[in-house]
Amino acid sequence: MSRHFAGLVAVLVVAAGGTAAVWAAASSWQRSLGAGEGGAARPLVVTSITIIADLARQVGGDRIRVHSLLGPGQDPHTYQPTPRDALTVSLADLVLINGHGLDYWAERLVPDTVRSRRLVPLAEGVDGPLLPWPGSHGGTDPHLWMDPALVAGYVEQIQDALVRLDPSGEEVFRRNAAGFVDRLQRLDAWIEGQIALVPPERRKLVTTHDAYRYFGRRYGVEVLDTVWGITTEEEPSAHHLAQLFRNLRQHGVPAFVETTINPQIMEEIAAQAGVAIGGKLYADALGPSGSGAETYEGMMRYNVRVIVDALQEAARSPAR
Ligand SMILES: [Zn+2]
Repeated sequence: MSRHFAGLVAVLVVAAGGTAAVWAAASSWQRSLGAGEGGAARPLVVTSITIIADLARQVGGDRIRVHSLLGPGQDPHTYQPTPRDALTVSLADLVLINGHGLDYWAERLVPDTVRSRRLVPLAEGVDGPLLPWPGSHGGTDPHLWMDPALVAGYVEQIQDALVRLDPSGEEVFRRNAAGFVDRLQRLDAWIEGQIALVPPERRKLVTTHDAYRYFGRRYGVEVLDTVWGITTEEEPSAHHLAQLFRNLRQHGVPAFVETTINPQIMEEIAAQAGVAIGGKLYADALGPSGSGAETYEGMMRYNVRVIVDALQEAARSPAR
């Protein structure tokens, strides 16, 4: 048991009135992560979001264990970490987060003393040009993974971090990373071909929150409007929602909802504006097992099919 883990459990035991039950629960969680298997245990890589967990699995294969703090359907912008998350991070050999303001709550779970060795904020190590976070003071839009070419930058950093962690696995990690980058290039070409099926004047997106700008930049799709901005922490203003309503009416494009955000506001405004809901997209979390969106590649293909189908359908309906 690491000193940090033991310290955290001690704090929890005191907070809970010194019960043995807290020790038992913490030890049971540690076993479920597979950390109690002794020196032969594979390194534990903990990630903030499911998308990064999949990238780590693609590169690390069965040489590592991967645990995502957030699950499918959970919103990283508003997440409040739990004591169990702190325990999990204390057991991690490597913590992979996105950074650029998406998941700083995960960064704060890593003690200062080991942060430089154990924590990698992947988006902050990707070569730009990156997009600004509108309305912030010099901030960067954190949703880089919506562009597969930028994801290659995440993969390279994951590969390097795993080689540092487990040098004997270097050949495997490099081979896995190179194979995955090839697949990202094929994904990129496939998306470009799919978007080309939509008439250029119809390549417009209206989504629940502002997560698709890198996607839009890469594939020539205009992000017309969103209910929330880059983050979902603050409620949208009435003034903004009125503008969204006017945009939907004027352009007649379908609106998309997302799996991590309550769809109610978008559904109401779309109904009032007389436009269809084009479908449910994934942005900040992968889908559950069996959804077809449980991997990064699966999620991107799923999103693109939903977007292209809905925009083509809108293009077939009479002009407004
Ligand atoms: Zn987001």
